[in-house]
Formats: sequence, C-alpha cells, structure tokens
Amino acid sequence: MTIRAQVLLAGITSVLVALALLLTQVVRSQERAEEKQDQQFTDALQRGLSQSRLLAVETALYQEPRAIRQWEETQQALRIRLQQAPARGPEWASLLQEVTQYNDSLAVLYARLREPRGAMSIEDYDALQARTVSSIMVVSHQLFDLAGRLIQLRRDWMQTRTQRSERLSYLILMVLMGNIALLLGLIYRQVLTPLAQLRTGVARVAAGDLAYRVDLAASGEVGALAQGFDRMTAQLQRSSQGLQTEIQEREQAQAALEQANRELLQALARAEAANLAKSDFLARMSHEIRTPMNGLIGMTELALRTSLTPQQRGYLQQVRESGDALLAIVNEVLDFARIEAGQMAVTEEVFNPADWLQRISRPFRVLAEQKGLGLTLEGQAGLPARVAGDPGRLGQVLANLLGNAIKFTDRGAIVIKVDWLAAAPAAATLPRLRLQVCDSGIGIAEADQQRIFEAFTQVDGSSTRRHGGTGLGLAICRRLLDLMRGSIRVHSRLGEGSCFVVEVPLSDAAPATASPQPVEPSRPAPPSRRSLQVLLAEDHPVNQQLALEILRGAGHRVELAEDGEAAFRAYQRAAFDVVLVDLGMPGQDGYQLARAIRRLEASEQRPPARLLAVTAHALAETRQRCREAGLDDHLAKPYRPDQLLALLEGPAASPRSPAAPVPA
Ligand code: ADP
Repeated sequence: MTIRAQVLLAGITSVLVALALLLTQVVRSQERAEEKQDQQFTDALQRGLSQSRLLAVETALYQEPRAIRQWEETQQALRIRLQQAPARGPEWASLLQEVTQYNDSLAVLYARLREPRGAMSIEDYDALQARTVSSIMVVSHQLFDLAGRLIQLRRDWMQTRTQRSERLSYLILMVLMGNIALLLGLIYRQVLTPLAQLRTGVARVAAGDLAYRVDLAASGEVGALAQGFDRMTAQLQRSSQGLQTEIQEREQAQAALEQANRELLQALARAEAANLAKSDFLARMSHEIRTPMNGLIGMTELALRTSLTPQQRGYLQQVRESGDALLAIVNEVLDFARIEAGQMAVTEEVFNPADWLQRISRPFRVLAEQKGLGLTLEGQAGLPARVAGDPGRLGQVLANLLGNAIKFTDRGAIVIKVDWLAAAPAAATLPRLRLQVCDSGIGIAEADQQRIFEAFTQVDGSSTRRHGGTGLGLAICRRLLDLMRGSIRVHSRLGEGSCFVVEVPLSDAAPATASPQPVEPSRPAPPSRRSLQVLLAEDHPVNQQLALEILRGAGHRVELAEDGEAAFRAYQRAAFDVVLVDLGMPGQDGYQLARAIRRLEASEQRPPARLLAVTAHALAETRQRCREAGLDDHLAKPYRPDQLLALLEGPAASPRSPAAPVPA
C-alpha cells in the first residue's frame, strides 16, 4: 500500500475515532440531563413522601381535620407527580406503580378516617379509627421504603451507566492515541528514515561519489523516489564515464592534431625553403641564360651590320634566327617554371588599349607580310581610352596567339577583333575586353581543342617538327588568364582555320582619377639623335663590349664602370645625361646604385639624369621596383641594338622585336 494511502487511512481512522469520542460526550451530556431530571423527580418524591409520613404521624396523634386535609393535598400532589414521572425501564415502572398503589391505598385509608361514625358505637368507631390510623402509619412507612428503593434503583442504574460511558470514552481515547502513535510511527519509518538516507545519498553524490546507491527497501512514493534517485545516479555515472572517455579521446586527438600541426609547419617550412631555392634557381638560370644570349644575339646583330660576303651574311642570319628561336623557348620554359612555382604575379596599371594593341601587333604585321598573309585589326573604335590591367601579361597572351596564327597559317589572313563588353549595371562585375585572334590556317580537330591548353601538348608531331614550338605557349596563356581572372577558348575546324577567344576583366580608368604613371615634367626628354653622355654600369665583359659598340656606334660618349661602386664614384665626379645600369650586378646592384644616384642628385641639387636599366630577369614586379628606386625605364635582355637605342631615346620610340618578345 502506498504511503499516501497508509497516511490517509490512519488519518480517516483517527477522525472517525475522534467523532466517536465526540458522540460519547454528546450522549453523556444527554445522560446528565436525564440524571438531573431523575434527581429532581426523586427529590420531590422523597420530600412529598416525608411530608406524607409526617402528616400521617400527626394524623395518628391528633386526628385533626387540618392535618388530614393537608395530607390529602399532599397525596394529590404526589399522585400528579407520579403521573408525570419519567419512564426509566420496567423495574422503575413497576416500583412506580407500587408507589402509586400505596399512595392510592393511603387515600382510601384517609377517606375512611373522615367517614362519619354513623350507626357505629363510639368504641367500635374509635377502634376502627385507631386501626385505620395504624394502617396509615404502616402504609406510609412502606411507601417511604418503596420510595427509598426507587431512589436507590435510580442511583445504582445511573452509576452503572456513568461507569460504562466513562469506560467507553477511555477506550475510544486509547484507540485514538494508538492511532496517532501508529500514524507517527508510519511517518517516521516510511518517510523520515528513507528521507534521511536519501539526503545522505544526495550529499555523497554531490561530493562526487557517483558509485553510491541509496538502495532502499521502502515501497510507495519514497521507495519510487529512492529507486529514481539510484537510476539517476547510475545514469550520471554512465554519462560521466562517457564524458571521461570523450575527454581522453579529445585529448588524444588534440595531441595528434598538435603533432600533425608541428609536422605541417615543418613541411611548410621545408616547402618554403624549397620554394625559395626554386625561385633562387630560376632567377639564377634566367640570368645565366639571358646574359650570354644577350651577347650572342647582340653581337650577331652588330656583325650583320658590317660588310660581309653573302655566304657569311647567310650564316649569321641563321645564327640570329636560331638565337631568336632559342630565346623564345627559354622564355617559355622559364615563364612556365615560374607559374608552376607560384611566382608569377599580375600587376595593374593604366594603359590605352588601342595603343597597346597597335604596339603588340605591329611586329607581327611585319612577320605576317613576310609570309604573304594579311593582318587586320577590327573594333578598336569601341575601346575606352584608359583601362586598368596588366598590359605586359595580356601582351604576352596576344603575342603568343598571333605567333601561333602566323605559324599555322600559310594562306589567307589573320584578323584581330576587339570588343569592349560593358558590365551589367546591377552586377558587381568589371567590364571585359574580348580579343579574338582568327586565322585561315590548318585548324584544330575538335578532339584536340581542349588538349592544346595543357602543357607540353601539340596536336601533331609532324606539324610540330615543321613549325617548331614547345607546346607551352597556350598553357602559359591559360595560366596567365587565370591569374587575371580571364578566360580563353578556341573555335576551330580542321583545314578551315581557328579563332582563339580571350576575355579578361579590366576596369575602365577614368582619365581624371587614374593616372598612376609617373609624370616627369622636370626631367627633360632627351632630344632625339643627340650625342649623349652615357655612364654604363655593366659587369659582364661581352655585354660591356656589346653596349659600348652599340652606343658609341650611335655617336654617344660612353664611360664604362665595371660595378655599382665604380659607377657611383664616376657619377660623383662628372655629370651624365644617361646612366645605363645592369640590374643584376654583383655587390651593389642596379637598384641600390639608382637609389644612391638619386640621393646624390637631391643632396647636390644636380639636374637628374635618365636612369635606365637592363635586366636578365624582368619579372612583373621589376617595373614597380624600378620606379621605387628612381629608375626611368628598363629593357629586358637579350636586347637588340635598336631596342637599346630606342630605350635611350625615350618610351615613345621603343619598338619591340617580334622574334624576341619581352619576357614577363
Ligand atoms: P607551341 O609552342 O607548340 O605553339 P602552343 O601551346 O602555343 O605550343 O600550342 C599548342 C599546339 O596547339 C600547337 O602545337 C598546335 O598544334 C596547336 N595550335 C595552336 N595555335 C594554333 C593555330 N592558330 N592553328 C592551328 N593549331 C594551333
């Protein structure tokens, strides 16, 4: 049975017992009222009877009519009282009847006393009277005794009843107290003791002893509570164990992660070191290859300007063409290596796209004409005047496409189409320049149209042998366009020609806001064909000789310095119109020399000379670095004599050779 039911039962029992006790008290008070009533009756009866007896004695002694009358009145009163007597059981009723009968007998006897003597003799009459009086006396006594018995009867009866009521009350009281004791015991055993155990359990669990169990044998609510508590603790213990395991696993994972991180950092450091080494190697390779190539190509050019037999001229032209081809291959291989090493970066500068197109396509027009092909330019009119992008990289792409178009076309024409695709007004995109280089050459089979953009891929071995090439040009174009967020694709039909489509986002640079090109009004533009005072800082003997030949051949006065320090000393001593420095000199390099010269000019307030550089590895950032060092322009090695002279004369007159495109 549940505790609630037990307590409820005990409570109901107690209430019932208490009600019973109350009932006995009610009954008892009623009995007291009855007792009082009986007492009053018996007292009155006793008083009446005493008076009756006294009057009987008085009557016997004096036989006065007053006494007799008084007795009659008393007797009448008694009769009335006896009639009004309460009913109290059969014994009481029979005694009352007896008393009534005796009283009535007395009335008869008194009536006889008052009877006249009549015919009776005096003696007889007196004798009768005397007997009557004595009878009255006897009956009065008996009546009195009867009344005494009646009173005693009532008294005994009432006493018995009182005792019984009291015993009942005590019994009920005892039951009530027992019940309360039972209730308290029940509460103590079923509620308080288990609660104390539970409290101990809670304290132990709170202190972290999750293995503790209350393990109560109690039933009912407290039992259920204890079982629930034990289940909860068990669950808690399981969760805690799970948590511990998880924490351990996490700690292990964390340790593994930290280890992996350390290894990654080491690998990263190794990779960075390897990258640095690679970049160093590339720079060295570039320098090591281009420097002798410069001598080779330049010297061949110079030799071709001398008087030669036709046979010698033919040989030298062969040398020049071979040199150009070799240079093109070297440039492609080095560019590709730089892209692969992640060292190719794009810059942004403002340029005029129409001028740029003219400049890039001009040498190819000459080449095309030499092959009997036409080269036309369409759509220039729609181009904006100034755009921001990387003209060098974009020029490299266009040069490659034009070179291929001329290479793979024997008849017909080559067309360069340009479009300016404005950005959609709502879209946050840049406008795009679309370049299409279409030829009427051999075309590319559909199956090869994707392959050709992969490195080292050429469509047909036999045509390659005929046309040459590395198979890197288009791969480089695609990577460069990726860097510029542009795209390249081809439409072609075998035997009908090809159309390469390039799209590249360029921002439209409004003339008023964008003009990052340094404006140099303070530096006088060198007058063309004037004899200039040139300081040449160059460490490589062949290149020294080449530059001296070219410059002196053009009528300039040249002083040679074999390193940066010597050049600076020479500049301190005398003024020069132009300082031509090799950027890759050992010791003080070209940048450092340029900075030193600019500082000297500023401190001595000398008119600034034109500072020009030649470099074997003209990277994308070279132009920026040159500007920062105070250099006015730069030229990539290997250069041709006319390129060097054009550099001296200023940017407006610096044609590029088609056979030796400027490397990135
Ligand atoms: P390559 O140095 O061989 O020209 P490219 O990557 O520039 O390397 O070109 C890869 C190949 O794609 C070429 O060898 C040629 O087979 C094909 N190709 C490129 N341009 C054209 C073109 N205009 N017409 C026909 N085939 C072309």
